[in-house]
Amino acid sequence: MSDSRKIIHIDMDAFYASVEQLDQPQFRGKPLAVGGPSEKRGVIAAASYEARKFGVRSAMPTAEAFRRCPELNLVSPRFPRYREISEQVHGIFRCYTDLIEPVALDEAWLDVSANLIREPSGTRVAERIKSEILEQTALTCSAGVSYNKFLAKIASEENKPDGLFVITPEQASAFLKVLPVRKIPGVGRVTEEKLRDFGIEITEDLLKKDAEWLNQHFGKFGMVLFQRARGIDHRPVEPERETKSVSVETTFDRNLTNLEELDLELQNLTEKLLQRLDRNGICGSTLTLKLKFADFEQITRSESRSLPFDRSSLLETGKRKLHQCCSREYPGRPIRLLGIGISNFGKPPRVVQLDFFEDLKIPV
Ligand SMILES: [Mg+2]
Repeated sequence: MSDSRKIIHIDMDAFYASVEQLDQPQFRGKPLAVGGPSEKRGVIAAASYEARKFGVRSAMPTAEAFRRCPELNLVSPRFPRYREISEQVHGIFRCYTDLIEPVALDEAWLDVSANLIREPSGTRVAERIKSEILEQTALTCSAGVSYNKFLAKIASEENKPDGLFVITPEQASAFLKVLPVRKIPGVGRVTEEKLRDFGIEITEDLLKKDAEWLNQHFGKFGMVLFQRARGIDHRPVEPERETKSVSVETTFDRNLTNLEELDLELQNLTEKLLQRLDRNGICGSTLTLKLKFADFEQITRSESRSLPFDRSSLLETGKRKLHQCCSREYPGRPIRLLGIGISNFGKPPRVVQLDFFEDLKIPV
């Protein structure tokens, strides 16, 4: 393990729910979820720790969440507010390093190997970031510190909420040995079951398999498993890349002509798109609708606004474009694929960065 980097993974605790409890004190100490209403087949985007005790989890249908916790308080997400706090938190990050890779509004990796405050200890940097986040936002986060991205991420999950967990190169192999394989990022339910079928439950079991065997049974991901089991992850922390567009599409099991069915599909796609946009903390001002007809001819229709789309304008504009295509331009033509995308993202406002070295100037 020759990797000598210092990587921090910061994950805000129950972020959306914590922001709501912060802004609306009546929900503090109470089971609270942020999500869509059950009448509209909504899903939970975030659950407070009080709600988690009842088994309420994110990505769960809201109806199921209410079955598990009848006294659950449900509020709609307020993404502009979450973005605002996320931007504040990133302002704190930028005082320590320029190497920040956002994963979602509430999650980021930081490479602090050479940091702006010249603090040699990654743990000290994480402690300072945690306390500054608490001071400036009144919210807690959990930090994981290690020498690569995947270990830092696993470490951040170890002591939630308000956790700080460090995995040093010396500790890594002992820590990994007993780690359940499902905790390795990228191992979903299907892979976990497949691994279990081979008798692989903890990372130590993975060590007994060679690269060839893993490649044979898990393809490309087999090589990732081979490396992770040995504590290896060379991926660099990549500062924010510019996203040009985000889109989602679906191919139907059978061709659709019914406008109501198409509306419903568009609504589902729009929800998915909104989730993707939200995960990236962005929203653009150009919407593009894509249709592929049964004969494979494909058309796109776009519309731009002066302001970025929000949830309701996205739904409304998408629907209007769809109706234009299906009722006016191509009435009755069977459709096999529907897609919707957003582009033309503005640059998010950057928080003014304070000059840390200002303090170090000796007065004359
Ligand atoms: Mg989080």
